Amino acid sequence: MTADATGPSIFSRIVAREIPATIVAETERVIAFRDVAPQAPVHVLVVPKSELYRDVVELAAGDPALLAEMVAVAQQVASAESDGQFRLVFNTGANAGQTVFHVHGHVLSGALEESRIGS
Ligand code: AMP
Repeated sequence: MTADATGPSIFSRIVAREIPATIVAETERVIAFRDVAPQAPVHVLVVPKSELYRDVVELAAGDPALLAEMVAVAQQVASAESDGQFRLVFNTGANAGQTVFHVHGHVLSGALEESRIGS
């Protein structure tokens, strides 16, 4: 959720160090921390520190350089924690499984399941 009557998003509270997370990478505008419910050997969330954009479509339209920075951080995480190869998943919309409306990419790496999109 975004900053509205309910307050800052859970990810903004992690950025502010109000709630704990295992932070694995950080730049001026991006933070990366471990997903609390990992779905792969490496499962890290890459998140802009600003919650201005709810999803990747808004982010791509509003600040493509920030999206590119998120991809670069994802690559850094996959290289540091695995073999540098990774999936980068952006759930976009509640019907697609998005639960936190502060844009974030899931970096999935390590021994992933054989199935893949398009196969
Ligand atoms: P999505 O369903 O794409 O919106 O992804 C939200 C992700 O945030 C889920 O994979 C959750 O497990 C993860 N998550 C929720 N709260 C936390 C938290 N406090 N620390 C780390 N990951 C979290």
